[in-house]
Amino acid sequence: MSGVLPTSAETVVVGAGIIGLTTALHLARAGREVVVIDKAEPWREGSAVNAGTCALQNKVTDLLPAYRLGLAEWRRLVAEMDGDFGFINRGGLRVAQSAEDVAALRYRAAEQAAQGVELEWLEGNALRDRAPWLSPSVTAATFCADDSFASPLLTGQALIRAIRSEGGQVVVAALTDRREKGDGYDLLTEAGTLSCRNVVVAAGPWSDRVASLFGIHLPVSLNVNTLSVTERTGQFMDNLVVTHIAGRFTLKQFPNGSCILGGGFQGRGDKDTGRKELDLDQLQANIRYQCSVVPQLQDLTLLRSWVGFTAIATDGRPTVGPTPGRPGLFFAFSTNAGFSIGPYVGRIVSEAVMGRTMPAIAHDWTPGRFIA
Ligand SMILES: Cc1cc2nc3c(=O)[nH]c(=O)nc-3n(C[C@H](O)[C@H](O)[C@H](O)COP(=O)(O)OP(=O)(O)OC[C@H]3O[C@@H](n4cnc5c(N)ncnc54)[C@H](O)[C@@H]3O)c2cc1C
Repeated sequence: MSGVLPTSAETVVVGAGIIGLTTALHLARAGREVVVIDKAEPWREGSAVNAGTCALQNKVTDLLPAYRLGLAEWRRLVAEMDGDFGFINRGGLRVAQSAEDVAALRYRAAEQAAQGVELEWLEGNALRDRAPWLSPSVTAATFCADDSFASPLLTGQALIRAIRSEGGQVVVAALTDRREKGDGYDLLTEAGTLSCRNVVVAAGPWSDRVASLFGIHLPVSLNVNTLSVTERTGQFMDNLVVTHIAGRFTLKQFPNGSCILGGGFQGRGDKDTGRKELDLDQLQANIRYQCSVVPQLQDLTLLRSWVGFTAIATDGRPTVGPTPGRPGLFFAFSTNAGFSIGPYVGRIVSEAVMGRTMPAIAHDWTPGRFIA
């Protein structure tokens, strides 16, 4: 349920996804006046419809330290707050099927171990004992105790409740334009005008569209990720997250027994019209791939498949922090696995709004890198 748009606030966050809401939560908890606006009912886009994977070992090596911070932030969020996020940390398996996969898995495992990720190599009986539900075609896997997942549905509900209980507001209001004024901005929305000192643009794939309202060009492209959910069945995957060394694969079983088949097979869509369509060839390929790893999936009815939008920055890095030469204007959007890293991005941008320096890890994430 959305509230009524006030006429002013110290900080306005544009976008009620995981980054916008965690930003607002930190500001509200610090006693700052904050309003989150969203063009539609809050928590309806990527953050609501994603696979919930917060794994470490399926992440690109360059950003591994950032994803570790993301995971630490998830743990802090879950420990510090009353809400139920459906966060489960029982570890994950990254599997290999072909000989090339096994070689690639060894290479990646060594690379990740060098970065301090603790992995256990599994093959033969050790692998069968750990995961008897894996296909015999899976010949090796690495186990990472840090791999986790959370429920997107519960997370959104918990964050919105927490922001409101800390005095923040979450309101439906599409930002359509802005006017600069002395020490801040007048934000023009479909629900009225809102004056503020700070704006945090956390509009996910639409961050480039919002940036253009401020006369800034940001290169943000779009991924249209596919996800499917099966009927409920008895627990058989021991709450593990399964990923694949060959990529485009995530699988887990939620506590209600449903299996969630994801990994980034692409559908079709247009962020300006909001059109989203499954690509049936991609969907079939996704499901075949999953069944080749966990054959038991073949016996389950697929209940629903859908696609959702994810922002992709051209250089593969998140975009977070103050905008050079534009006091009070901040950006905070991720690239790709934004559910995993989102709470960390929300924390550091909220701290920047409160005048703190951005951490060293984020120095090449600044929006300034795109601004001539
Ligand atoms: C199917 C799928 C599966 C995925 N699986 C995973 C996964 O397992 N693990 C993982 O880490 N990541 C996953 N992702 C990616 C992850 O969901 C996103 O990276 C992350 O949720 C982005 O969060 P966000 O807050 O940046 O943006 P979003 O959740 O996209 O939120 C942005 C918000 O901004 C609002 N907005 C836009 N323009 C305006 C405007 N003009 N005025 C007001 N509001 C506006 C939008 O309505 C939206 O609510 C997946 C994505 C999809 C689609």
